Amino acid sequence: MQQQADKNWHSMDAGQVAAELEVKPDKGLSQQQVQERLDTYGRNIISQTKQQAAWKRFLLQFHQPLIYILLAATLVTLLLSEYLDAVVIFAVVFINAVIGFIQESKALKAIDALSKSMSLKAHVLREGKKRDIDAQELVPGDVVLVQAGDKFPADLRLFQARDLKVDESALTGESLAVEKNTEAVAEDFILGDRLGMGFASTIITYGQARGIVVATGDATEVGKIQQSITTAEELETPLTRKIKSFSQLLLWVILGLSAVVFVVGMLRGQELADSFMIAVALAVGAIPEGLPVAVTIMLALGVSKMAKRQAIIRKLVAVETLGSTNVICSDKTGTLTQNQMTVQLIWAGRQEYTLSGLGYLPQGEICENGQAVDLATNPALKQCLLAGMLCNDSRLKEKSGSWSIDGDPTEGALLVAARKGGFTEEQLEQEYPRADSIPFESEHQYMATLHATDTPLMFVKGSLEAILERSSQQLTAEGKAEPLDKESINRQAETLAAQGLRVLAFAVKEAASGKKSIGHQDAAEGLVFIGLQGMLDPPRAEAIEAVSLCQMAGIEVKMITGDHAVTAASIAGQIGLQGKREGERLLALTGRELQAMSEDQLQEVVQETAVFARVAPDQKLRLVKALQARGKIVAMTGDGVNDGPALKQANIGIAMGITGTDVAKDAADMVLTDDNFSSIEGAVEEGRGVFDNLTKFIVWTLPTNLGEGLVILAAIALGARLPIQPVQLLWINMTTAVLLGLMLAFEPKEPDVMERPPRPADDPILNKNLIMRTLLVGVLLMLASFGLYEWEIRQGATIAQAQTVATTVFVVLESFYLLNCRSLIRPLGQIGYFTNLWVYAGIGAMLLVQALFIYLPFMNLLFHSSPLQGMQLLRIGAAGLGLFIIVTIEKTIRYKGSRSRAGK
Ligand code: ADP
Ligand code: MG
Repeated sequence: MQQQADKNWHSMDAGQVAAELEVKPDKGLSQQQVQERLDTYGRNIISQTKQQAAWKRFLLQFHQPLIYILLAATLVTLLLSEYLDAVVIFAVVFINAVIGFIQESKALKAIDALSKSMSLKAHVLREGKKRDIDAQELVPGDVVLVQAGDKFPADLRLFQARDLKVDESALTGESLAVEKNTEAVAEDFILGDRLGMGFASTIITYGQARGIVVATGDATEVGKIQQSITTAEELETPLTRKIKSFSQLLLWVILGLSAVVFVVGMLRGQELADSFMIAVALAVGAIPEGLPVAVTIMLALGVSKMAKRQAIIRKLVAVETLGSTNVICSDKTGTLTQNQMTVQLIWAGRQEYTLSGLGYLPQGEICENGQAVDLATNPALKQCLLAGMLCNDSRLKEKSGSWSIDGDPTEGALLVAARKGGFTEEQLEQEYPRADSIPFESEHQYMATLHATDTPLMFVKGSLEAILERSSQQLTAEGKAEPLDKESINRQAETLAAQGLRVLAFAVKEAASGKKSIGHQDAAEGLVFIGLQGMLDPPRAEAIEAVSLCQMAGIEVKMITGDHAVTAASIAGQIGLQGKREGERLLALTGRELQAMSEDQLQEVVQETAVFARVAPDQKLRLVKALQARGKIVAMTGDGVNDGPALKQANIGIAMGITGTDVAKDAADMVLTDDNFSSIEGAVEEGRGVFDNLTKFIVWTLPTNLGEGLVILAAIALGARLPIQPVQLLWINMTTAVLLGLMLAFEPKEPDVMERPPRPADDPILNKNLIMRTLLVGVLLMLASFGLYEWEIRQGATIAQAQTVATTVFVVLESFYLLNCRSLIRPLGQIGYFTNLWVYAGIGAMLLVQALFIYLPFMNLLFHSSPLQGMQLLRIGAAGLGLFIIVTIEKTIRYKGSRSRAGK
């Protein structure tokens, strides 16, 4: 066999391709062939796309204003022959870059791993059987089946295509969908014109197809392109951008101040070197350089917390947005409900039948008025069951007594119902061999199959509206055709729907003899209505709880479904959605009603309505926009091919991991691995927790910079020597951020995260109270540090000792203040002393390295520090305790009686 990539598969006809690859298109490969080819060609994986080269990312760590200042400082200290200082400053710059680099790489890796953990599935034909396999296991020669919503899992030469339209923009940049067929084209045709080919990672927007894999992994067209592209992960969020621009502003202010300080110092006749070092100290101390990185790390940690709750984040910014989400628009089927359908009622030939049994276990009875029925005397019922089993693409499976389905639960329920009536799939497939089908699409709301019987028969199933529109007659109980009585059918459907049952309608039509294939026009009219099947899809218990949590948290929950309005309203009521009511029942707006509304009207009703039924995918987009126009932060779920635009438009697009199409997952910011509504609630909860912790970190870190800046300004104002030298400031900033501050990332969520309203997205990070606290603590730090420094000098301590005291004050006070920052509003006693042991571990480590700083001769040399005595340490400890008590009192006074609103 030839190297897969070099052949002009597009110019060969499909039969030739099959022969070349030694595969029968109707059977697929054998297990042995698959094994051999896996060994030859490897797995179907595109090698790791090249990320921005590591060395480049490392160099970028130096591309920060503060670092420039420090590099300049290194140079100047060198010129001044202060070699040791120069070495220390440069070492700090270097270590800082290394730490930044490592942390950034970790964050990148976490995000990368998560987005990769969603593996693509492929439907293949092997040894004559259809199978679902991991797309990575595909080999050349495999026969693959694809349909709307899928991505091509490898490069295919198509040999069967039905209404196939493909979005190849990922490959060609052409955004218009291309209609594909199975034709061979000339050898020199460019990619976009090779109509008989399906290329890996392009998306099927319509129709179905089968093809033979001709290239996998790096040999695919996209694999070849991928090799030449480098990708940079998006790590910026509105928050980090805000912080960056804040730092930038601060930088200019501080540079200005430094210049003034420098000039004043010179005028006073200070030495040039001294003036310069003061200016550098000011810049180093007052700029919160570690902040953006810390925020990124905390967001990345949020990603893994959310993954534990079945929510996979695809874009970092989602972690931040989740915290301020105030409307969740959710699908009904499978997200709010269990998607475990059981047919409970059948209405056919104007008779009502009940079915016993629950779930997919095909055991139970069909009764009329409590009496088991005989199908032979109920032809309409029989047809209804037949239609349900024949017009069906799903399979029942049994594994050691437990039954499940392969396919759509709605269809599974129909199979079970027919089995309860005594039919089996094998028997019916023989009696009514399928000639063709029109698959179900949400847009059309029906499915049809054509069967090659003596007179070919067409069975159709779908929503009530779709079937009635196309019918002109109905079956009587005896199985004769009579004129259609729409009114009584509608009334009956309403009764079923009012009980929360999902209603499917069935119809039959005789096709012209010899007919082999069908299209939408064949099902457009002249159907004979058979009956209705009503199936129960109970709400998920977790969803009921999650909805109530969301509502308590000030988040509106809305249901958006393709199902019938009455069914939707009934289930929404059971789940506890709140919205405008119509008598007892929740008001449900239908897609048709939405269509008729102007944008203004829509924006009005979308506020108060909780249930939207018979909604087409493109209307979801309108709904999102209408909500956003009223300032809402919208999370919207979706799974279908056409949900992409709505998912992209939503502030948080959420795709279903199990039932979702590849298109939906691509467009989403977040993917639910279990399709469960409660996972959305979980992610929101985590999002709020992460944002809280971020705020805590910022409130903890800013006073340090403020305090350091003030100490230096105070020293200048009073004409004193620098109480803390630049290298010592660097020491404080580097060690405390990592050892103390980051421990706040492990702070558990506060008990009331879901009891307060969502944070308005445009709220400043720090409110007035928090700014006041920052100022208070900053000033206290300065007073303690400068005060103790002066005290030591007056007591006759050496400059080195006094500076060591001033430095240690910052380290110790920040440690105490860290405990205060574990909650923004609660005193420590209320949140529990030992609920975050990381904080103590961090403080322990910090005190240990500070002891080295004070006592190790080597460190004394590097940082101009000097050993301290017990009394000196005791005074610093007392100052720390004092700060802790003052902040505790401040919190208690400010938040007395308003415990439930974090910091507001
Ligand atoms: P949802 O998943 O929100 O319930 P869908 O778009 O899947 O909405 O379904 C819309 C309607 O189409 C359903 O209420 C039902 O009447 C009909 N329907 C659903 N699945 C099928 C199917 N497999 N075959 C035929 N009709 C279907
Ligand atoms: Mg559905």
